[in-house]
Amino acid sequence: MDAGELVTGILSPSQRLAADKDGNMEAQIKLGRIFGIEIGLHYSWLIIALLIAFSLTGHFGEAHPTWGRGVIWGMAITTALLFFAAIVAHELSHALVARRRGLPVRSITLFALGGVAQLEKDAEDAKTEFLVSIVGPVASAVIGFVCLLLAWSLGWMMMTEPTTPLMAMLVWLGFINIGLAIFNMLPGFPMDGGRVLRAVIWWYTGSMQRATRAASLTGQVVALAFIIFGIFRFFAGAGFSGLWMAFIGWFLLTASKAAYAQQELTERLRGVRVGDLMTRDCTVVDGHTNLQTFVHDFLLHTAQRCFLVAEQGVVTGLITPNEIKGIAQARWPYTTVYEVMRPLEQLRTVTPETPVSEALEIIGREDINQLPALENGLLKGLISRDQILRYLLTRAELKM
Ligand SMILES: [Zn+2]
Repeated sequence: MDAGELVTGILSPSQRLAADKDGNMEAQIKLGRIFGIEIGLHYSWLIIALLIAFSLTGHFGEAHPTWGRGVIWGMAITTALLFFAAIVAHELSHALVARRRGLPVRSITLFALGGVAQLEKDAEDAKTEFLVSIVGPVASAVIGFVCLLLAWSLGWMMMTEPTTPLMAMLVWLGFINIGLAIFNMLPGFPMDGGRVLRAVIWWYTGSMQRATRAASLTGQVVALAFIIFGIFRFFAGAGFSGLWMAFIGWFLLTASKAAYAQQELTERLRGVRVGDLMTRDCTVVDGHTNLQTFVHDFLLHTAQRCFLVAEQGVVTGLITPNEIKGIAQARWPYTTVYEVMRPLEQLRTVTPETPVSEALEIIGREDINQLPALENGLLKGLISRDQILRYLLTRAELKM
């Protein structure tokens, strides 16, 4: 396995991917905050970090057989950590430009294929999309050139083997970051290059829909090329790196198809607000009701799954079967709805004016079934995944 090949395979499909739609890309290990943006690791990252450190020992060991094992391992681990710091810098550049352009950023997560900067919403104009997308590859390229420049200032001559460990690390980091910049600029949506392409078509045609369609189609072509080339290389004897390439192609294919589907969905929900679809007459339960009564008189009495909890007429929370599941049945008569409900202030909420596409995104991201819609702190209704789905089905049925 060649280190260079393994690592240039690392993607930085910035912003939102299909993977984070179903909540799989939530960080499981939180590292802290930079510029107020949470940085985290997905478990899959640990495997790839080990693979990279391991393959780096091979890379450094073969080039410099006279250097001790300890030195080689020290170099490999430091280089791997610096490489991930460079990926964080890449994602951070996306995040900071996004924030500057008015798009809030939730977090940055490192996973097996690189990093994702999770934005709260998509760019609303071509210029923002262009700037947010291109800054990542630019950041990687700058990091790469700075590393090579540092190596050169330490006496490294272009195209020769570095003579010291520090030089060797800088040279590797230099080339890998430049490689990363080039790789990310491939025009496959939703990779950076694909987003840049989309921004350009969007600007040129004035239609985001057409731009997304074109960019995701190019994305699928690029992805297929990866798969075919990867399989070809595998059978030509490249082993793991061929498979790895095919895997990246498959990942890209899934991501660009999902990005396209997401776009279509947003398009169909354009102009529809939460207030148009939400239920306004939800059943209200008094907070002092015990769970026994609640389950038998309310929950099992209707097809409804979500109830509002009120205190003297003011809604203070929500209760669904989810909250009751964890309580032993024997405790139901002694537990009140209050004790287990989810208080409104702890819930993600929307307003009746929120676009439904945005509500759907929140529902998907937070992996919840319904969202309360509040106006001036008062509950106006509930919007659920089912309602949105039914709306889409009705439209489809009427061929609208
Ligand atoms: Zn990027």
